[in-house]
Amino acid sequence: MDMPAVKMMRDSAKPLDGRVAIVTGSTSGIGLGIARAFAAAGADVVLNGIADQRVIDELCSECAGLGKRAVYDGANLMEGDACAGLVNNTVQRFGRLDILVNNAGIQHVSPIEDFPVEKWNAIIALNLSAAFHTIRTAMPVMKQAGFGRIINVASAHALVASPFKSAYVSAKHAILGLTKTVALEAARDGITCNAICPGYVWTPLVEKQIDDTAKARGITRDEVINNVLLAAQPSKRFATVEELGDLALFLSSPGATSITGTAISMDGGWTAQ
Ligand code: NAD
Repeated sequence: MDMPAVKMMRDSAKPLDGRVAIVTGSTSGIGLGIARAFAAAGADVVLNGIADQRVIDELCSECAGLGKRAVYDGANLMEGDACAGLVNNTVQRFGRLDILVNNAGIQHVSPIEDFPVEKWNAIIALNLSAAFHTIRTAMPVMKQAGFGRIINVASAHALVASPFKSAYVSAKHAILGLTKTVALEAARDGITCNAICPGYVWTPLVEKQIDDTAKARGITRDEVINNVLLAAQPSKRFATVEELGDLALFLSSPGATSITGTAISMDGGWTAQ
């Protein structure tokens, strides 16, 4: 068999062949894991997030190398107009939008009486309102196409609370309500909307916390991992961004057509307790 024929067979076997996906906050961590999984599955991918130009160029060429086209859109998703712009620019560039992953998020930890108002506003804007803005802009496009996959990266903190995370826990609980509402509104249009609820995931953000916490408490890295970070996670292991990528890929696949309005935990048993 000649090489072009082999390449065609390989490409057509890819589950997301011909699909266009936006993954917000995909310059690092979970979003990047999902973007890589989508690219390897044959999708055109729009990367988004805050990073140096050098990192952006490397990630775009890495994702393009894994699959098809990969472009970067630097929309600051704290702004509603920028969220709409991210969706509109994608549709203008690729002529379609099949998969929307709302992943970008930030955290701030503080007792509520000291919680800075600007941190509350920023967390609600990025972790919750950004998804409202992207979904409301994407919905007409997906309805017209009769197909859409919307995945909101929530958290175990969408199901249970921890102290000192009032804004994060509020935003993550609220995004489950948004997920269910959108799922019901779009249920007859070939569009699904689901939330993924990870416990602790091994990302650069979490890795950095380990050394800082070890230093601050005068304990070892292993003690931080098992007695502090993973105290609530019975598996005593972090999920990986590759596992998150696999789950998002499954939710985007034909096998997940009837899965909508759900919150799928990937938390090592945290919320089973
Ligand atoms: P991360 O810090 O590695 O990635 C966050 C991404 O969001 C980055 O690409 C960053 O550039 C982007 N971002 C930040 N501000 C932005 C803005 N204004 N506009 C656009 N993009 C912006 O974090 P992560 O650990 O990969 O977390 C990703 C998501 O997963 C978040 O919603 C987080 O709440 C959720 N989550 C993470 C964990 C975990 O343990 N890491 C657990 C549960 C849920």
